[in-house]
Amino acid sequence: MTQHQHSGPRSTLLDGFSWLEYAFQPAGQPVPSDAAYGQQRHSANVVLAKQNLPPKSCESDGVIGEDHLPVAVYTADCLPVLFADTQQHQVAAVHAGLKGTLGGVLHNAVDRLLARGARLETLHVAIGPAIGPCCYELGQDLVTQMQDRPDLPPLKWSAQQPHNAQAIRPQAQAQQQGIWFDLPHLARELLLQRGIQAEHIEVLKVCTYCMAESGSSYRYNTHFDSGYQSRFSWIRTRA
Ligand SMILES: [Zn+2]
Repeated sequence: MTQHQHSGPRSTLLDGFSWLEYAFQPAGQPVPSDAAYGQQRHSANVVLAKQNLPPKSCESDGVIGEDHLPVAVYTADCLPVLFADTQQHQVAAVHAGLKGTLGGVLHNAVDRLLARGARLETLHVAIGPAIGPCCYELGQDLVTQMQDRPDLPPLKWSAQQPHNAQAIRPQAQAQQQGIWFDLPHLARELLLQRGIQAEHIEVLKVCTYCMAESGSSYRYNTHFDSGYQSRFSWIRTRA
């Protein structure tokens, strides 16, 4: 992962594919004008690009690319997840917060791509800036509920807040007797469980709360009333 100040962090994995373009844009930057994105509801709905032209035409949290259109998601602390299929040169953008991730939005995106000709071994996934385990506190009860679900992979969390040596501002302060949950890890484990190859999944490990540009984090805004702006992430196949 390398940092470009104006265009957002890069994925080594996706940078290897000359047939696509993508960005994990910093907060507040406008999305490409022809981008398709849904009315996001933390759902598991994944639709095709043209169903979201004009943008927000339908409630969905994942968009599959069509006809070289950029497909996008907007996030604050949730995971922006970009998919690339080297078999059919397909792309997809998925908004996956905890609720959508637990609801199956990532698996639905994989299923749609497979139905359109991808193979599990040709799918590549980059998980962009999102709140990290350094700043994402959850109630213990929520984690207990997740641990009771036999369909979920092993969870990663810590009772002690992990120190983030790369933080550029103070990490989140504990608000409760909670635990520090690793949401990007859960997404990665779910993708592995679905059959995506480990070397085809990249987690950028940029925490929106303590590492990304200011205004990136919904939770930071909740704590400091500092304001926030959506960050758009998008991907498209080149014409
Ligand atoms: Zn953090």
